[in-house]
Amino acid sequence: MVKETGFYDTLGVKPNATPDELKRAYRKLALKYHPDKNPTEGEKFKQISQAYEVLSDAKKREIYDRGGEKAIKEGGPGGGSGGGSFASPIDIFDLFFGGGSRMHRERKGKNIVHQISVTLEDLYNGVTRKLSVQKNMVCERCEGRGSRKGAAQMCMSCHGTGIQVRVHQLVPGMVQQVSTVCHGCHGQGQRISQKDRCKACAGRKILRQKKILEVHIDKGMRDGQKIVFHGEGDQEPGLEPGDIIIVLDQQEHPRFTRKGEDLTMCMELQLVEALCGFQKPVQTLDNRTLLVTSHPGELIKPGETKCVWNEGMPMHRRPFEKGRLIIHFSVVFPKSNFLPNEKLKELESYLPVKVGAEQPESMDDDLYIYADLEDCDLSNRKRHRHQHYYMDEDDYASTGGVQCQTS
Ligand SMILES: [Zn+2]
Ligand SMILES: [Zn+2]
Repeated sequence: MVKETGFYDTLGVKPNATPDELKRAYRKLALKYHPDKNPTEGEKFKQISQAYEVLSDAKKREIYDRGGEKAIKEGGPGGGSGGGSFASPIDIFDLFFGGGSRMHRERKGKNIVHQISVTLEDLYNGVTRKLSVQKNMVCERCEGRGSRKGAAQMCMSCHGTGIQVRVHQLVPGMVQQVSTVCHGCHGQGQRISQKDRCKACAGRKILRQKKILEVHIDKGMRDGQKIVFHGEGDQEPGLEPGDIIIVLDQQEHPRFTRKGEDLTMCMELQLVEALCGFQKPVQTLDNRTLLVTSHPGELIKPGETKCVWNEGMPMHRRPFEKGRLIIHFSVVFPKSNFLPNEKLKELESYLPVKVGAEQPESMDDDLYIYADLEDCDLSNRKRHRHQHYYMDEDDYASTGGVQCQTS
């Protein structure tokens, strides 16, 4: 039995909580109430830190369990520093950034990332877009001081450093140094009295402002490509400004798909076109008309792929060089009975001879079982699984080659 449960209650755990449970509970609460995120909850944060500092230490926890808060304040091993000046046992930046230090993180202002939607035509032809962005700018009236010249006074809590270092005794003879952002000045290192504050920025030193950017999208740029405006990101006094990063997001095109520098498209041919040649217009992304031509004598098989050189995407920074236009063909066969039976003989006479077909004269009815072909609905195959062997769905897809929509 413990004498009192106050510290456990503060962390929202039971008195028999394991060190792991304590740590988890503390991290969760510390993130929620840390003064950086929640400046009005400073007192609550202090209580949480205090409770955890005691309970995370096996010796202190034992003292607390036996004698309560009073025993801790009176000082057992390691409790001697007392008086409520508890430091936070886990640096808050470790919680947020997995160990990244604040000093390193803040040498530069924040980057602003914007995504802009572009068409394949935009990437083919190049285009300039105007983009309106909101960003933090250093106040011009006070030049980022937040006050009249000389009105700011050094913060006495941190002596102008913006950081408070607290020495935190783990056990006698072993101390830990913990740095936290100064609560007195929120890391600014100085304080400005109300009457001296800059009227334009209300002492905040920065103003939220709108800026119009001209984004030049070059020929041949890609989906996901970044365009960086160095130094156009958020400004903060005393820091190098961040960047504005534009990320291109290409919409799908109804006819063309881009594969690197190549463009691919699907083309549907009638059987007669596949066999006897054709000319078909294709509208390019810069509105020219290509007449895709297959000369009589050339033959396109269903699922075959051909290409037109130099009609793909322009290369980035070398826009006069282009990739290929790759065309996947599908062939539409005529409908059943498109030709009267007596004409089929005539058609047959023009086509290559049948291979491997039995000659009707040599057929003996007793030796053969006639198997008529029926329509086969593949979506119903589950019902017949026990009777027949069917390929997996993946096999169907791969036998079809490129999937082109036929309408
Ligand atoms: Zn100002
Ligand atoms: Zn300070």
